[in-house]
Amino acid sequence: MTASTVPEVPPGAPEPVGRPAAVFALLSEYASALDKVRASGRTVGFVPTMGALHAGHQALVRRAASECDVVAVSIFVNPLQFGDPDDLERYPRLPDEDVQAAGEAGATFVLMPEVSEMFPSFPAPVPTAVTVSGLADRWEGAARPGHFSGVATVVAKLFAVTGRCRAYFGEKDYQQLAVVRRMAADLSFPVEVVGCTTVRDEDGLALSSRNVRLGAEERRAAAVLPQALAAGARAIAEGEYRPSMVEALMSQVVGEEPAVELDYAVVVDGNDLAPAISLRPDRPLRLLIAAHVGGVRLIDNIDPAAGTRGIPPPRRSVTYSATPINPTQPVMVHRSRPGPAPADDPTKGK
Ligand code: AMP
Repeated sequence: MTASTVPEVPPGAPEPVGRPAAVFALLSEYASALDKVRASGRTVGFVPTMGALHAGHQALVRRAASECDVVAVSIFVNPLQFGDPDDLERYPRLPDEDVQAAGEAGATFVLMPEVSEMFPSFPAPVPTAVTVSGLADRWEGAARPGHFSGVATVVAKLFAVTGRCRAYFGEKDYQQLAVVRRMAADLSFPVEVVGCTTVRDEDGLALSSRNVRLGAEERRAAAVLPQALAAGARAIAEGEYRPSMVEALMSQVVGEEPAVELDYAVVVDGNDLAPAISLRPDRPLRLLIAAHVGGVRLIDNIDPAAGTRGIPPPRRSVTYSATPINPTQPVMVHRSRPGPAPADDPTKGK
């Protein structure tokens, strides 16, 4: 379907399920279709993605469809946010399946522009870029220089053409969500940024377009990431008050899997993502983790106060003796109890 087939969506018309009403390649046509939607008094929900849509993306689209009259999904593999050309090259691209998946979840419009439409000068440097300092410099920003500037630049451009809307982002990319919120507020975009819960596989691994690149053994080993986060959350729920001990525990859990190379496992302030100084319950906290599994870089995070929902209990009983960073502190012994019994989960209901 092309932009020339764009139908007028009459006010009150039922939202299409199964296929979007229109797929746009041109920003101008997409922008004017959304202007017409708003002119008819309806609200717009926007879900930006890089495609290879999975149930996590579809959950964002469903949430948008439940809260907005018309949902637009963008599918664009943004070259500005990839430092490694091989990573960009290998990123999965499934346009036909994506249009179908977006429509099934409730998308009305899909924007699928070419790189030349988004960034005409590319691969020469794009002259105008958006940077968010501070927030974007830590963790993923430090590991992937230029990444968040690429994200902020493409999201700013997508917000500009989408116009007034509610925009749905996954908490799965927690730092990205924080950067986008900051950028939207600082540049006064008429966009309300909405964070959505991470969708996980049965073993707790967060769904990601990159998971398809994991071999069978790597895929099995990758489940240690949510296990490490859950162990950290349990330790906090059991009264651990030292961030360094929680971090040592998380890295010990990851150390159980030789196939997984930890990049960072940290406790941060949930607002500014600075390293947490204390684990006071009145402060919002986030546990962040990043690791390489085979050639694939995976990230995940949880809010320890929200418990370990979606992450199954560990399969076997392991006792971790975390070595504190400050050797004058006592060694913490934490028992990771085996399943079943979510009822035994000390974080349940918190
Ligand atoms: P991406 O296509 O990876 O750029 O992701 C597009 C949007 O989907 C971002 O807001 C992501 O945070 C979100 N997302 C990706 N994976 C998940 C997941 N497992 N659960 C919820 N949201 C997700």
